[in-house]
Amino acid sequence: MAFLIPLTIARIPEVQSLPTAMRARILSNAKAPGPIRLWFFNFVRGVLCTLVLTLLGHNLGLGSLAALSSVAFIIGVLLISMAIAHTWTITRIRGQIRFGIEEASRGSRTPICTSCGYDCSEINSDQCPECGVSRQIPDTSG
Ligand SMILES: [Zn+2]
Repeated sequence: MAFLIPLTIARIPEVQSLPTAMRARILSNAKAPGPIRLWFFNFVRGVLCTLVLTLLGHNLGLGSLAALSSVAFIIGVLLISMAIAHTWTITRIRGQIRFGIEEASRGSRTPICTSCGYDCSEINSDQCPECGVSRQIPDTSG
């Protein structure tokens, strides 16, 4: 299976397969930002990271680059920083969403595979048919 980072929280496979009521609760518990806030934060982090790297680059002698190369360098660094910030945010929130799904499924099976995001709600098996991971969540609360 390809390793994909969706562009918004709503496109994470586990989120898409969740029943609507459960989705709203889990997203709010994970403090998942909407697409605009998510990308605004990515942009801010990207700019901060670019400022630091540009300063470092300047001290390392990249300050002698031609204007066009400098602009290309800065834009490149900005895009890469934003991609890293986005990957980090999605991975973190995905972890919280999976945790939320498991919390909500204590003592039974998860409706969605928390390993690959496969929709298991119609499947009567303890294992995910897609990746074979156990769907059984032990009830450890009491
Ligand atoms: Zn799976």
